[in-house]
Amino acid sequence: MMRGHCAVRIASRYDNGSCCVALMPSRGNLIVRRTGCIIRGMKAERKSTAEGDSMRIGIDLGGTKIEVIALSNEGQELFRKRTDTPRFDYQQTLQAIAGLVHDAEAATGETGTVGVGIPGTLSPVTGRVKNANSVWLNGQPFDADLSALLQREVRVANDANCLAVSEAVDGAGAGFPVVFAVIIGTGCGAGIALNGQVHSGGNGVAGEWGHNPLPWQDEADRLFKGMADCYCGKHGCTELFISGTGFMADYTALTGEVCKGAEIIRRLSQGDLPAEQVMVNYEQRLAKALGQVVNMLDPDVIVLGGGMSNVDRLYQTVPSLIRSRVFGGECDTPIRKAVHGDSSGVRGAAWLWPKA
Ligand SMILES: [Zn+2]
Repeated sequence: MMRGHCAVRIASRYDNGSCCVALMPSRGNLIVRRTGCIIRGMKAERKSTAEGDSMRIGIDLGGTKIEVIALSNEGQELFRKRTDTPRFDYQQTLQAIAGLVHDAEAATGETGTVGVGIPGTLSPVTGRVKNANSVWLNGQPFDADLSALLQREVRVANDANCLAVSEAVDGAGAGFPVVFAVIIGTGCGAGIALNGQVHSGGNGVAGEWGHNPLPWQDEADRLFKGMADCYCGKHGCTELFISGTGFMADYTALTGEVCKGAEIIRRLSQGDLPAEQVMVNYEQRLAKALGQVVNMLDPDVIVLGGGMSNVDRLYQTVPSLIRSRVFGGECDTPIRKAVHGDSSGVRGAAWLWPKA
């Protein structure tokens, strides 16, 4: 069946033009089952494309802050505001987001499409949030509830996917068809953008290679791995090694001293030997992790965000280290720092509604 033959067209982040095969009412919304995926949206009679809306509103829902941005069709920032996240209160979290959308529309005098980046993902099976470290979101039909509250379809994606989209649209990955974007901060998340749009996968976990075991582990890696289990319940996850938290833990293991990442970097610049050793370890581990990505996805560009992405040395050392991990020994994949920095999440959420 070709595009346009569906009884109802509902745009969503999963919308790739494939056909609907069944419609079932659920909580006043529709769940549309199609080959291999589920999409959720508002009532059938509501037009659900960005047609007629020139403004895009993006929300970055973090564990401590919620940020809103309004972008023009050209990506110009029209409005921005932050508020505290009502932690452990789901209903108040919804209300806070709705309030920010209202503020953006009141300030600009326009209505907009709404995209939200969350620190988790929507299960394509249940339509509910899973894997969120803001645990009060887990198990909630977040997109359906927010859609009902705002009386329009809302698109929701993982925050690392929003980074990928933001950088693919007008950032470090602009012009590249396949963008792999990594957040290396407190934890490690990653997302994939294909032609500027989220690829979240049939299970909603595309890009979550941070919870694969670190490949090519050597003796130092095995010793480090023995110190901590991952919060996901697995052992030896890549996140443990290449997050900023892992970087700091390695320094503590070597020196017995608890030290923030920025301080380790400062000591590195002064010739501190333990700092040099943990940086060499880190570069090797990041190269192993990204070499695995190249062997699997072979993206056109790798974009780094999060605190560790500010270590300029990584962009000199890691590309050549990756080469030895890639099948055939060739790898010229550019590795770039995210252009939009801390704004990538909120900008990417806005771009979940791409230009028409
Ligand atoms: Zn894990």
